[in-house]
Amino acid sequence: MRFQFTPEQEQFRLEVRKVLEKEVPLRWKELGYQIWEETDESWAITKEWNRKLGQKGWLALTWPPEYGGLGRSQVEQFILDEEMAAIGTPTGIETAITIGWVCPTIMIYGTGEQKQQYLPPAARGEITFCLGYSEPNAGSDLAALRTTAVEEGDGFLVNGQKVWTSIAHRADYCWLAARTDPEVPKHKGISMFIVDMKTPGITVRPLINMTGFHSFNEVFFDNVRVPGKNLVGQKNRGWYQLATALDFERSGVGTPARVKRMVEKLVQYCKETKRDGRLLADDSGIRRRLAQLSVEAEVLRILCYRITWLQTKGKVPNYEASVSKVFGAELLGRLTDVTMHILGPFSQIDRGSKWAPLQGEGLRLFLTSPSMGIGGGTNEIQKSIIATRGLGLPRK
Ligand SMILES: Cc1cc2nc3c(=O)[nH]c(=O)nc-3n(C[C@H](O)[C@H](O)[C@H](O)COP(=O)(O)OP(=O)(O)OC[C@H]3O[C@@H](n4cnc5c(N)ncnc54)[C@H](O)[C@@H]3O)c2cc1C
Repeated sequence: MRFQFTPEQEQFRLEVRKVLEKEVPLRWKELGYQIWEETDESWAITKEWNRKLGQKGWLALTWPPEYGGLGRSQVEQFILDEEMAAIGTPTGIETAITIGWVCPTIMIYGTGEQKQQYLPPAARGEITFCLGYSEPNAGSDLAALRTTAVEEGDGFLVNGQKVWTSIAHRADYCWLAARTDPEVPKHKGISMFIVDMKTPGITVRPLINMTGFHSFNEVFFDNVRVPGKNLVGQKNRGWYQLATALDFERSGVGTPARVKRMVEKLVQYCKETKRDGRLLADDSGIRRRLAQLSVEAEVLRILCYRITWLQTKGKVPNYEASVSKVFGAELLGRLTDVTMHILGPFSQIDRGSKWAPLQGEGLRLFLTSPSMGIGGGTNEIQKSIIATRGLGLPRK
């Protein structure tokens, strides 16, 4: 393994930095948004930004040109993601779901027609998917899902309920897991569908999360007709496609850059802020904790490099992705602790107030970081994957 980037890759990083510094919308920075979820305005900025990236071929950089990508390497994708996370661009979960997880799975299992219909518009930033996996009694035990898709005529009739569906209220399509055979062992009777969110019979109800924003939804399917051509891959083999999509999901590379960016902001804050007549930067305890976080962000970066390297070898990361997911989620927890410690009572003030340090980022971090150990599969489940598939330990 080469532990350095090639001159061409370094050149690409510089190009990316230059473009991002110039192009990130001023309004996004002014408002201190971090993700799309907050308002109609932040979503509009996000959509516009993704279209802009799409025009450059940067939204789906690694995809073949026939699907709207530039056929660039996973390493370059990593560089782009890292730089975008470092500067805090408007790209977020909608791109991760659509470009990072769902479409690569369609690329592996979809028909030629499905690939032509969904991949190029996704690469142009024109369409967004949401993930219809979790149900009230099927989260960690996803194979227990009960939403049914019954074959009828040349299509399927879908009935059931999904929950915690991020961006369902914004998405054009749902990547839906539904039960197509109730008689067989539970993971052998699931199929994957692409469902147009405008289909009659779909009701999306908001679930306001503890950040106070509308990010999640409950989605109800009441006799929803899905054309047979929207079944992805073989009927009843959906579990295996789902597993592929989940492996893509857990290999995220934005966290180390996000931690680093926050540490840099905290360092600056400590250099400018006095407590009890002393600069925070002179406090050896604070210095040690910030240094520790920087080191851990580097460790996570290396774990993510390993995943990228596996992808360049044509492999789908598995327990390796779980390792980086657990470490990343726990690192965000430690970053939150240090941030609250440094900002003190001011950490409770949200953006919009002149007293909020770092545009209220401390509070946002405090409210969002716990979810990182739940979304995409809880840390306990990831640890089981590491134990069984990574370390070869017995299940019980
Ligand atoms: C930010 C965020 C975004 C999300 N977005 C989506 C989305 O877009 N689409 C979607 O479908 N879902 C989404 N989810 C839902 C998410 O996938 C589930 O919350 C997650 O899979 C956990 O399932 P659960 O909530 O049913 O918890 P449960 O499975 O009920 O787990 C409860 C607790 O029990 C533990 N536990 C359960 N089983 C075991 C076991 N076998 N061994 C050890 N411990 C166990 C869990 O680790 C957890 O601590 C999102 C969640 C979050 C937080």
